[in-house]
Amino acid sequence: MPQPVPEPEFDELYRELILDHYRSPRHHEPLSEPDVVAEGYNPLCGDEVEIRLTFSNGAVRDLSFHGRGCSISQASGSMLSDLVIGKNADEIRTLSGLFTTMMREPEGESPEELGDLEAFQGVAKFPARVKCATLAWHTLEDGLTQHEQGGHAVRREE
Ligand code: ZN
Repeated sequence: MPQPVPEPEFDELYRELILDHYRSPRHHEPLSEPDVVAEGYNPLCGDEVEIRLTFSNGAVRDLSFHGRGCSISQASGSMLSDLVIGKNADEIRTLSGLFTTMMREPEGESPEELGDLEAFQGVAKFPARVKCATLAWHTLEDGLTQHEQGGHAVRREE
């Protein structure tokens, strides 16, 4: 069983943004004919995510995200899906790297490129929750790698 983990407190604006994505996740309907299905699991908190991808001309043509778990894990995936559709693997890996760096630096700046994902910066102060926020990004990166290698499905444990 996952252990109870501390609940970060967010600024009101960020809290509302995260809850909005948690309650009304974007791109939530699973794609019916994905090129790649990437699943991720965070045993520390019990979060599960599934990202389905289609590709066109080296870029993500469409993406669906669904899963279950805490609001941070699910809102992170929802916001990610808004941000990466239409981008190529290099661009997405750059964004994922910026996000992962932000989550490791509690006193750092939020990069402009991440848009609304700056809402998660407050999570960096709670190391036990960082994996909740990064799970969807790392699962997405696994999906990109899998596609490059000609595979169709991949599962990671964060
Ligand atoms: Zn979580």
